[in-house]
Amino acid sequence: MPDIRPNRISREEITENFSELHPPLSHPEALIEADRCYFCFDAPCTTACPTDIDIPGFIQKIRSGNLRGSAHTILSENIMGGMCARVCPTEVLCEEACVRNLHEEKPVEIGLLQRYATDPVLDEDTQLFSREAASGRRVAVVGGGPAGLSCAHRLAVLGHEVTLFDRDKKLGGLNEYGIAAYKTVNNFAQREVNYILSIGGIAVRNGVTLGKDVTVTQLRDEYDSVFLGVGLGGINQLGIEGEDLPGVENAVEYIADLRQASDKGDLPVGRRVVVIGGGMTAIDVAVQSKRLGAERVDIVYRRTFDQMGASDFEKNLAKTSGVTIHPLARPLKILGPGHASGVLFERTAPGEDGSIADTGETFTLDADVVFKAIGQQLRDGVLEDGSIKMKSGKIVVDNNQSSSLAGVWAGGDCVLGGDDLTVTAVQHGKVAAIAIDHYLRTRENGYG
Ligand SMILES: Cc1cc2nc3c(=O)[nH]c(=O)nc-3n(C[C@H](O)[C@H](O)[C@H](O)COP(=O)(O)OP(=O)(O)OC[C@H]3O[C@@H](n4cnc5c(N)ncnc54)[C@H](O)[C@@H]3O)c2cc1C
Ligand code: SF4
Repeated sequence: MPDIRPNRISREEITENFSELHPPLSHPEALIEADRCYFCFDAPCTTACPTDIDIPGFIQKIRSGNLRGSAHTILSENIMGGMCARVCPTEVLCEEACVRNLHEEKPVEIGLLQRYATDPVLDEDTQLFSREAASGRRVAVVGGGPAGLSCAHRLAVLGHEVTLFDRDKKLGGLNEYGIAAYKTVNNFAQREVNYILSIGGIAVRNGVTLGKDVTVTQLRDEYDSVFLGVGLGGINQLGIEGEDLPGVENAVEYIADLRQASDKGDLPVGRRVVVIGGGMTAIDVAVQSKRLGAERVDIVYRRTFDQMGASDFEKNLAKTSGVTIHPLARPLKILGPGHASGVLFERTAPGEDGSIADTGETFTLDADVVFKAIGQQLRDGVLEDGSIKMKSGKIVVDNNQSSSLAGVWAGGDCVLGGDDLTVTAVQHGKVAAIAIDHYLRTRENGYG
């Protein structure tokens, strides 16, 4: 009998386990941390930031007590600077590049300083931006995740009227439904969405699904241009026997249920959990299962430990949370009968060219629940067949996020070449908005 039930541990333990991962800096701590910055010329931290935030610039403003100016420096490049301060893998971005990141000392805590500067803007509901004169142009943005919200905000600032479509009840995309609960507490995702919408000029239409209620062709006819930020709603399948057994679950859906649960203790949790995958989703579902009271959680990944998509910080978090990681093994079969009871794996060996080879050696892990976390793909039917150039199931775009279809831009997880990070999606949305603005203001398009 599978052992899957809610409330495996007490409510108090669950509350403690889901408390904020990185508490904010106090005022004295922020000043001490800001003082550690060398204010480098051609700062490598800024170069490493996907949204090009002037990092020494905002840290200098914290030092001089100009918090509002500091927040403006951050949010004018990245309107989700507050969320990114919480969820960015800074250890492989700005903080890895920081010149203080040497063996004997740690990098400047750029993420925590960014949070210190931006939190008051949302806490005090301070509007830092104003809209340019109305352009008379209308843009459809599909998807209210980081890419769509970033695009919509910049377009609104530039004077355009935006209609933002999303199939879900709440905006925010994976900020609301995906990011681990201990990274973003106190309803931060919705508070940030509200702040972004408060600029004005963005009409929201929830519950509208592209490919079902409306098509790209209709949006092109009705609007002056279109931005697609629909993320990746479909999941990759394992393609092995037993995959359809009860107890085999989609990790992203389970995480969404967890994020939306008013009482996390109500969520059924397996006693023994096996997670298949090696990225952030695999780590998040494993760590959160453990924090909900699973006794044993194993992550199994087909390539080497170093090749896992999750960062070293995330992998360490899994280990210190009591999760066991097994690299170099691939699933052969989910065992039954009637319900998942375990997974049969085959050990793999790394080849010289980065490939993996089967070894013939097998082992089994017992499981009450098996999570699939091997990546996502664009849902079928979102785009009209052949309307837009695709590769590997994602939309092909140029450097300005322009798709192959005139008047249609795209960004975030749904485009080829992204790295599946919130910050990258925000940058794509911003770059697309600037390109759309240019397009709408050129003479050929009857404006400017
Ligand atoms: C479990 C998990 C944990 C993650 N943790 C981190 C992390 O810690 N740090 C980090 O930087 N990144 C993390 N990521 C990645 C990050 O969340 C994504 O890269 C980012 O959200 C992509 O933004 P997006 O706007 O492209 O897509 P999404 O956030 O997926 O938003 C897409 C939006 O489009 C809407 N939509 C989809 N299809 C349609 C349709 N047909 N019609 C209308 N609307 C539609 C959806 O409802 C959604 O609101 C994580 C991802 C997952 C899955
Ligand atoms: S690299 Fe480090 S020290 Fe230099 S400006 Fe950036 S945060 Fe400051």
